[in-house]
Amino acid sequence: MQKTQQHLNGSVESVGHLINGEMNYSSDKTQDVFNPSSGVVTKQVLLADKQTVEGAITAAETAFPEWRDIPPVKRARVMFRFKELLEQHAEKICQLIGEEHGKISHDAMGELQRGIENVEFACYAPELLKGEHSKNVGPGIDCWSEFQPLGVVAGITPFNFPAMVPMWMYPLAIVCGNCFVLKPSERDPSSTLFIAELLHEAGLPNGVLNVVNGGKEAVDTLLHDERIEAVSFVGSTPIAEYIYSTATANGKRCQALGGAKNHAIVMPDADIDNAVSQLIGAAFGSCGERCMALSVAVAVGNETGDALINKMQDAMKSLRVGAYSDSNNDFGPLITKEHREKVIAYINSAEEQGASIVVDGRNIKVGGFEEGYFVGGTLIDNVTSDMISYKEEIFGPVLQVVRVNTMQEAMKLINDHEYGNGTCIFTRDGEAARFFTDKIKVGMVGVNIPLPVPIASQSFGGWKRSLFGDLYAYGPDGVLFYTHRKTITQRWPSAGVREGTNFSMPTMK
Ligand code: NAD
Repeated sequence: MQKTQQHLNGSVESVGHLINGEMNYSSDKTQDVFNPSSGVVTKQVLLADKQTVEGAITAAETAFPEWRDIPPVKRARVMFRFKELLEQHAEKICQLIGEEHGKISHDAMGELQRGIENVEFACYAPELLKGEHSKNVGPGIDCWSEFQPLGVVAGITPFNFPAMVPMWMYPLAIVCGNCFVLKPSERDPSSTLFIAELLHEAGLPNGVLNVVNGGKEAVDTLLHDERIEAVSFVGSTPIAEYIYSTATANGKRCQALGGAKNHAIVMPDADIDNAVSQLIGAAFGSCGERCMALSVAVAVGNETGDALINKMQDAMKSLRVGAYSDSNNDFGPLITKEHREKVIAYINSAEEQGASIVVDGRNIKVGGFEEGYFVGGTLIDNVTSDMISYKEEIFGPVLQVVRVNTMQEAMKLINDHEYGNGTCIFTRDGEAARFFTDKIKVGMVGVNIPLPVPIASQSFGGWKRSLFGDLYAYGPDGVLFYTHRKTITQRWPSAGVREGTNFSMPTMK
């Protein structure tokens, strides 16, 4: 197979599509791919047109009849080999993530490991495909449920986890017997494509996984093509809503995971030093570009608020912000110049609306990387729920502190917010923690755990406008999403059990 990194368009490398096991460079339209640490264009990604996407769907459709009939355990075996290849090539994958996303290698390694855990779970999927059996439901009658693949399914993924989020989707979908068309983010496509090549090296037959790079035209083709049975989406809420409404209007199954505004409540009895060190990592890690990033700290009581601000201010002095290539850095740049401007505009708006900028990352300069898209860790106090910066997702290294008097007020803030992805409480009080986990209207909840991202054997999803659809991503919900349940009731008539015609509803009476 032709390797991604070898195709040149003039002096710049092109990132193409992977269709039916072959690299494909057929599209006319391209988009620049930047190194966000330096602001330099490193590659050009091809943007698939309708015809190219249709070619990928045809490849998946053609591969499906054979793939669905391969025993699940053999399908899983490909994933065992894939896991090994991912581990062998971890450095190269993290390098590609760093170059195009800006993530520091320790963080990219964490992302990759989380992706690998989803591959490991997919190896276990045959166990979940066993179905359920009821013997002797009537005279000589057995009844069982089994899980059958849907056919061709699609995944559309965001820039912030180019390795992990696609691996939330296709390993499980493929072991369940489906064929897959993936449309990753056009902003950092190389690691996703390289990983897909590794899956082929692991023995995946051509056409079972196809990757098309592109933008709206590619997405819309997937949403409207009747051969696509289901769509998994992860990205921002406005696009998630569009994907969900369009896919379901076209008769497809859809799960669309959207944006977030994750609050951490800091109770007066919390171990404040622990809360501060956890908050710093969860607010600023990956430059705040995580859907589970903690972006709001709700301090209960003014004393808690003062202690939190003072200790955060101190701790933030040692934050190391810089290029992805220096593994001593804590976090790197934002994804694009435009996104940097947007994050700064949110900080400006908080200031204009009366909040206090305690630590200001707007004017940070990184020596040798003056054109990089950096924003330093920013701490804002006295934020209120009417401010734009509080209502909307910033997706940058900005922690806002809201001060309230009671835990009930803190919980009301969270429950009233339009997003419901993740949340956390810092406390030593078991009763308060139990009340919080029970009554909070959020999908993923931590107790002294700042990033409660479920492990691969659970499932991942938010509430309210953080998820459109009924089933969470990956884990047991993933198996349900990527399969049809079929229930079969069977009897082999013989002279002894043959019955006459019965016009009543059959019962066990
Ligand atoms: P995005 O919504 O801009 O893009 C996501 C995908 O949708 C990309 O593949 C993109 O090409 C495509 N897309 C963008 N605009 C489109 C349009 N108009 N029509 C059709 N397709 C379109 O998101 P992003 O900026 O790449 O990622 C960041 C967002 O993703 C944040 O809001 C973050 O919270 C969210 N996110 C959510 C989760 C979660 O699990 N809930 C996980 C990761 C990221």
